[in-house]
Amino acid sequence: LTHATVCVKCQLKLRRENKPYPTCPSECRSIVKNVYTSKRLTLRDLPGIWHYNWLPVKKPSDYAQRSVTYKSKYFSKELGLENLYVSFTGFWPEVKAYVGTGTFKELEAVVAIQYAKENGVNRLISASAGSAARAFAYIASREKFNVVLVIPEKVTEEMVVPMVDEKYVKTLAVRGDYCDAITYADKLHDSTGIAHDGGGRNPARRDALGTILLEAVEKIGFMPNHYFQAISSGAGAIATFEAADRLVGDGRFGKVYPKLHISQNEPFTPMVKAWTARSRTIESCDVEPENVLDVIYAKVLSNKKPLYGLSGGVFDALEATSGEAYGVTNREAEDTSKLFERLEGIDIHPAAAVATASLIKSVDQGKIGPKETVMLNISGGGLRRAEKELGKQRIPITIEVDKDSPPEELRDILHENLS
Ligand SMILES: [Zn+2]
Repeated sequence: LTHATVCVKCQLKLRRENKPYPTCPSECRSIVKNVYTSKRLTLRDLPGIWHYNWLPVKKPSDYAQRSVTYKSKYFSKELGLENLYVSFTGFWPEVKAYVGTGTFKELEAVVAIQYAKENGVNRLISASAGSAARAFAYIASREKFNVVLVIPEKVTEEMVVPMVDEKYVKTLAVRGDYCDAITYADKLHDSTGIAHDGGGRNPARRDALGTILLEAVEKIGFMPNHYFQAISSGAGAIATFEAADRLVGDGRFGKVYPKLHISQNEPFTPMVKAWTARSRTIESCDVEPENVLDVIYAKVLSNKKPLYGLSGGVFDALEATSGEAYGVTNREAEDTSKLFERLEGIDIHPAAAVATASLIKSVDQGKIGPKETVMLNISGGGLRRAEKELGKQRIPITIEVDKDSPPEELRDILHENLS
């Protein structure tokens, strides 16, 4: 076996079952992570993410994309940084980036679906505020794999992908916010038995995100001193920490973890507030406002139940790397988006603009030396180019429901639509 899945809290090696990922029988509710037999990073002669060995699947799919890291010339000069590396996941042919749905969620969907297929799961429910639903719709259509997507009704306008096959993709729009969509997805799982992909809890999804650091380290030659990313569930930050931990174990790329610099979009910054107070608990008042999707620029950064205080979560990753956290206003993010596009030549996803704005703040606050190596995770970009060159299809909404619809009703509605 290439890997074991382990509960971070009780260290139990978990049994592999016909599930999207193994869970701890002791109700630890902690992160479960993959521990790979090979402690060395192996660069395989395979395309896309499959180039890296630390993925929990037996066979690569024919998906051939991955993130692309390049050394910034113009934006770095603006910031006065000599070693700023941009890790770009999106569509930008000039740098050989061809991720059609334009965000790193696509990598997650690829590995989650491949893992599910290899472990006897033939249908997945996934809840998302946008990017992940688009990624799962596109990849499931390509892979001819069944998914049920649960999204907040407010984001249906943004549900555009290069290609979608309604035969495999069913989409439920919930009248409510992202949290209501997640709750609804759980109800749906309980009433239908269809497996929930688990979001950031799914280690297959996180290891897919981990390839972004692996690709960066392959390009740079060693681990960066600083890592910048905007977070919603926190899966990207946890994934990066886990990948860094494997690289430290390998030993050839440095022994020090990159310092994690995480950011969220004001006024919705529950993890920033908790970490600033060095608290493992998110205060319930910090997951207000109720209408978060109406007030933040980066709508995907609206997860109200992030993977924060639990064992192996964001708090632990920040603690282990002496991390930093930043709140970014809509105005700062939008201005940064324009600045980045003007200097680097590509449009970036709102969440990536939040991360980029936090890098500017960090430099302004003197937290980064001019010669230190910085990795900026541009988690999405090039959507306009992708739509122009790959075409676009709207993901059809199968059903629209109230957030309080009873599960029985859901099951019946679904039954009709799935048969
Ligand atoms: Zn456990």
